[in-house]
Amino acid sequence: MNTFLNTLEFALAQDAADPLRAFREEFLFPQYSGRPVIYLCGNSLGLQPKGASAALKQELDDWATYGVEGHLKAKHPWYSYHEELAGCTARLVGGKESEVVVMNQLTSNLHFLMVSFYRPSGKRRKILTEQRPFPSDTYAFASQIAFHGGAPDNDLVEMRPRAGEYTLRTEDILTCISELGDELALVCFGGVNFYTGQAFDMASIARAAQGVGAHAGFDLAHAAGNLHLKLHEWNVDFACWCSYKYLNSGPGSVAGAFVHERHHGKGLPLFAGWWGHDKHERFKMERTFKPMPTAEAWQVSNAPVFSMAVHRTALEQFDRAGIAALRAKSEQLTGYLEFVIGEVAKESGAKLEIITPADPAQRGCQLSIVAHGKGKDLFHAISAKGVVADWREPNVIRVAPVPLYNSFEDVYRFGVELISVLS
Ligand SMILES: *Cc1c(COP(=O)(O)O)cnc(C)c1O
Repeated sequence: MNTFLNTLEFALAQDAADPLRAFREEFLFPQYSGRPVIYLCGNSLGLQPKGASAALKQELDDWATYGVEGHLKAKHPWYSYHEELAGCTARLVGGKESEVVVMNQLTSNLHFLMVSFYRPSGKRRKILTEQRPFPSDTYAFASQIAFHGGAPDNDLVEMRPRAGEYTLRTEDILTCISELGDELALVCFGGVNFYTGQAFDMASIARAAQGVGAHAGFDLAHAAGNLHLKLHEWNVDFACWCSYKYLNSGPGSVAGAFVHERHHGKGLPLFAGWWGHDKHERFKMERTFKPMPTAEAWQVSNAPVFSMAVHRTALEQFDRAGIAALRAKSEQLTGYLEFVIGEVAKESGAKLEIITPADPAQRGCQLSIVAHGKGKDLFHAISAKGVVADWREPNVIRVAPVPLYNSFEDVYRFGVELISVLS
């Protein structure tokens, strides 16, 4: 669509025609001066689905009613709670049910998966990642390298963009992979970089990495629930994500992992726990670990049911909306945001540079703005107007209209507040 208008009338008409508009009513918005805030921060912490408290209460009630017997008698038996999430999760990330598992936390999952997929040996020791990955990932990569006796300064390679550019070109990533060749053990990128909002071509990166004998993994913290993922088809080796950003499952809620089926049942080294043991024999309590022939082999502990209850509610919303429909709306909504920011810049004379790629295939819903000469002051000024966005050092304001609950009106109102603080 190239017929955007920066008017309330236009925004309201878009909302009226939005087939997903009813989902907004299913969320709790923080209030500001008696009306909902302009919440553009679902990339940091998604809003609470109204159904979350009933789902949580169900588990508390079942615990009160059944005590330990809730493992089998609860409405959603705790023993197999995670299994009920496999269908929605598989549809969300484009995997098979046997390839996904909901467990642990994101950085923990990254570590557990690297135990299997980062196995440096001989000269093949390097990990390639994008410039400025999320700090937790850098710590995980560096500590895994050190754990294997390597030197992070040497073995962790962060790809830098070309001079004068903010984001990476796919052709440069592929060239870098082929140049590192047999020194490369693992390529692990974010699906979407948290800072720039750039979405990477995961299929091409995976193919290139595997072509030189390395594994390809992705941290989907900013991609799950944001992009239309096809992990199985893209043939990625592994992936992990958190559930509290785009997946609206609450602070610190349970995370997810994907392991491609070609790695199942192959005896890959892993850190084992009883929930990864063959479930039919788990309670024989035998000494020898017999892994599940699925991604569940990587599971170590029993299910954190309270956070899974909220996660279930949130995943069911994605299932009802459908990720394809969400993505279609997202491209429009983020395109509109880009347009509105451009109009505000024109009108105010402010230099608002969007560093996120303009190509919809290379971004999700987030736009990262560098406000030259304004920076953090501008962020504080819009916050004081009831806009919830976020600031990332050194100089970026991130805004993310999420298609499940944000509206075109939100984007329009964001523009109104932005112009009011700039003039
Ligand atoms: C949010 C985020 C994390 C956070 O890790 P937790 O283990 O969930 O605390 C890690 N990596 C990336 C890329 C993120 O965006």
